Amino acid sequence: MDSVLPETVRPVYDAVLKRNPHEPEFHQAVHEVLESIVPVVEQHPAFAESGILERLVEPERQIMFRVPWIDDQGVLQVNRGFRVQFSSVLGPYKGGLRFHSSVNLSIIKFLGFEQIFKNALTGQGIGGAKGGSDFDPHGRSDGEIMRFCQSFMNELYRHLGEHTDVPAGDIGVGAREIGYLFGQYRKITNRHESGMFTGKGVSWGGAEVRTEATGYGSVFFIEEMLGVHGESLAGKRVIVSGSGNVAIYAIEKATQLGAIPITASDSSGYIIDEDGIDVALLKQVKEVERARISEYAARKPGARFVEGARVWEVPGEIAIPCATQNELDGDDARALVASGVRAVAEGANMPCLPEAVLVFQQAGVLFAPGKAANAGGVATSALEMSQNAARQRWGFNDSEEKLRHIMANVHASAFDAAARYGHPGDYVVGANCAGFERVAHAMLAQGVI
Ligand code: NDP
Repeated sequence: MDSVLPETVRPVYDAVLKRNPHEPEFHQAVHEVLESIVPVVEQHPAFAESGILERLVEPERQIMFRVPWIDDQGVLQVNRGFRVQFSSVLGPYKGGLRFHSSVNLSIIKFLGFEQIFKNALTGQGIGGAKGGSDFDPHGRSDGEIMRFCQSFMNELYRHLGEHTDVPAGDIGVGAREIGYLFGQYRKITNRHESGMFTGKGVSWGGAEVRTEATGYGSVFFIEEMLGVHGESLAGKRVIVSGSGNVAIYAIEKATQLGAIPITASDSSGYIIDEDGIDVALLKQVKEVERARISEYAARKPGARFVEGARVWEVPGEIAIPCATQNELDGDDARALVASGVRAVAEGANMPCLPEAVLVFQQAGVLFAPGKAANAGGVATSALEMSQNAARQRWGFNDSEEKLRHIMANVHASAFDAAARYGHPGDYVVGANCAGFERVAHAMLAQGVI
C-alpha cells in the first residue's frame, strides 16, 4: 500500500489523504486503483486535462443519518446509517447495504469506490454506490431487525428509486432484511417499485440465481483463469473463508464442478471437512438456523472446528476468501504459496492485503481481484432490474447461463486490458484498467458535472 505512486497519479492520492483523514480502507482502495491505471492515464492525456481522477475520487453525494429504534427490552438504540453515491455516469447508483458493527464512512467509501469499476466491468448500465449501518444483526430477534430496517428506510427512501439508486444486500443484509426494507419503502412511497431494490424474494420480483450469483460467479471466474492454462477445477482442494451468502454458493458451485471445498469459517474460527463440505448441512446451519459454524462440525462426523484461527493454514490448490476486507495478510499468502496454491479469487471485497497480493503475483499464482471475481452478484442484480422493468421472469438455468456468459466476458475484458497495457496475466491491472476506461470515456463525453 505504501509503494510510491508515479507522478501521473500521486498528487491525486496525496489530496485524497489530506481531504479524507482517518479513512485507511478508502485510501487502500484508491491507492490500488491509481497504481493500476497509470498506463491508461498516460495514453489518454484528455483524462488528466479534464480532471477525471480528481472527480472520480470524490463521491457525487454522501449521506449519513441517525437510525433510532427500540429493542425488545424497550430500550432506545441509536445507530448510524450511510449511503455513499459515488458515480452515476454509467447508470443509476448500484451497490449493496452492509449491516455490521465495524461499518464506518471509510469502509462504505472503499466499497463504493470499488463498486464503480466493478459495475463498469460487467458491461451493464449501472453506477457505483454502497451503504449500510454500524448495526449488528447478530443475536437480534426478527422484531428488532424489522424495526431497525424500517427506521433505516424512513430516511434512506428519499434517496432511492429505480432510476436513481438501487441497493442490494451485503454482509448482514440478506433476504429477510431486504424484505423489511422493501416493505417500508413501499409503505412510505405508496409505490410498488420493484426495480428500486435487488435481491428480492423470487416470489415478489426477485431474480432466479441472484442468491447464488456472487459465489457461483467467483467459481466461474476461476474456471476461466484455469482454462487459459488448460487446467480445470476437477479434484482440486478449495479453501474457502466465511460461511455467508458468498461462501455458501462458492462452495456449492465448486462442488458441482468436481472440486473439493474443505473449509468454511465465521468470526469465531473455521471448520475443516476433508470429505468435502456437505452443502445441505452448511445451508441448514447457516441459512435456516443462523447458528455458528462450529455447529457444522458438531453434527458432521469427521469434521473439526478450529477455534480462533484462520483457514489459510489449511493446504489447498484454490483459495476463495469470502468473508470480509483485509482477512488475508502477507503471512497467510506465504503459507498458501508454500502449500501449493494455484489460484486465488476474491469472493469478498478487498479481502487480501496489498502485501498478500504481491506474494501471490510474485509466486506466479493466478490472482483475481474482487472487482472482477465477485462481479457476478451485481451483474445478476442488473438482470433483476431488466426483468422488473420488462415485467418478465427468466428461469434458473437461463439465468445461470447468462451469469456464466457475463463472467466469461468480465474475465476476457480484464485479461485483454492487462495484455494491452503491458501487464499480461495481471488481473488487478486488467480489471482496474478495463473498468476505468469505460467510466473515464463516459465522464469525458458527459462534461464537467
Ligand atoms: P454474509 O453476511 O452473508 O456473510 C459474511 C461472512 O463473513 C460470515 O460468515 C461472517 O461471520 C464472516 N465475517 C464477516 N465479518 C467478519 C470479520 N470481521 N471477521 C471474520 N469473519 C467475518 O455476507 P456476504 O457473504 O454477502 O458477503 C461477504 C463478502 O462478499 C463481503 O466482503 C461482501 O462485501 C462481498 N460481496 C458480497 C456480495 C453479495 O452478493 N452478497 C457481492 C459482492 C461482494 P460472522 O457471522 O461470524 O460475522
